[in-house]
Amino acid sequence: MTSTLPRLLAAEEIRRRVGELASEISRDYADRPDVLLVGVLQGASVFLADLIRSLAIPVSLDFVRASSYGPAAASSGRVAIRADLETPLAGRDVLIVEDVVDTGRTLDRLLERLAEGRPASLNVCTLLDKPSRRVLPVRARYVGFEIPDVFVVGYGMDYNERYRQLPDVHYLDPPPPQDSWNTND
Ligand code: 5GP
Ligand code: MG
Repeated sequence: MTSTLPRLLAAEEIRRRVGELASEISRDYADRPDVLLVGVLQGASVFLADLIRSLAIPVSLDFVRASSYGPAAASSGRVAIRADLETPLAGRDVLIVEDVVDTGRTLDRLLERLAEGRPASLNVCTLLDKPSRRVLPVRARYVGFEIPDVFVVGYGMDYNERYRQLPDVHYLDPPPPQDSWNTND
């Protein structure tokens, strides 16, 4: 499916970078037989699907969901994690797979929550990183692309449940109202 929205990253460019990330992860975790990838629904689903098919190591999959809550959800910055994880995390090598790290609030909360399960290691792989938007000092070990302060859609990412199916990453111009940025999905 094609779109007239301005394009930030072409499918081919994403494909190449996802392959590089997968090689890096496969190398770093080569001696870890028990890696658990935890995808953050729903935005990271397309990225995760592509990533696992390029990995050279065995992995298990699980998923979590994050949601902002309270009045003016995004700006209040409260994030609730729904992690009905099927697998106990104790002693596992856990790699969170996220679509975008923006303010860092979601990831901060998620790291805190998953750390409670006492994994052997806990790292983050994000397709996109917007360092200029950061409010909390979280870092992803694996970053696909650093991008500027824009609202992106496509390749799994939505605005009000639209645009997820686009194969490229686009941005909305003009951007949507700020308090709808952290859609947390
Ligand atoms: P943070 O908590 O880091 O501010 O935001 C993280 C979550 O907000 C991401 O997991 C993502 O679901 C959503 N988000 C942040 N920036 C964007 C964006 O540019 N586009 C879309 N579609 N979602 C975003
Ligand atoms: Mg997300």
